[in-house]
Amino acid sequence: MDKKLLQMNQAEPGYEMKWKCRKCGKENSKAASRCFFCGKIQRIVFAGFWNRVAAFIIDLIILILAAYISIYAFNSKGTFNDLVLGIMLPWAYFSLMESSDSRATLGKMALGITVTDLNGKRISKGKATIRFFAKYLSALILFAGFIMVRFTKKKQALHDIIAGTLVVVKRDRYITI
Ligand SMILES: [Zn+2]
Repeated sequence: MDKKLLQMNQAEPGYEMKWKCRKCGKENSKAASRCFFCGKIQRIVFAGFWNRVAAFIIDLIILILAAYISIYAFNSKGTFNDLVLGIMLPWAYFSLMESSDSRATLGKMALGITVTDLNGKRISKGKATIRFFAKYLSALILFAGFIMVRFTKKKQALHDIIAGTLVVVKRDRYITI
């Protein structure tokens, strides 16, 4: 095995899953961001602002539908219901899905984007929870926390910076440079 190639392959921040090289088609280890066989770099692509907005709108529609279904199914009203549907349900949805193997909510899946930690790894439920509640802060400051995605280097929203997360385009859709 070529030592230099091996080092190069292990040095870059990784992604847990195996991925297929776009140039030579061979499978590479989870930690590599450069093809071991032909040296092609697989660049990490941070998800853009409008992709994230679109994913959020899809998630919002799903959560509103779920809320309506539960209101009609259980014929429930009142503060408890507001609390469950307004905070508990969205919290469970975002934190459980983003910390799962899919690393994404249904909206993010539809857009082919995933949430990772700063090393490209799956986030814990705790991190996902911090990320979720920090979104309220991002929204409170006139949504400036969301708009920051357009201006920060790694396209991080305020809640990404607080939780230590990134939103990236899935590896199988990475652009090869
Ligand atoms: Zn290759």
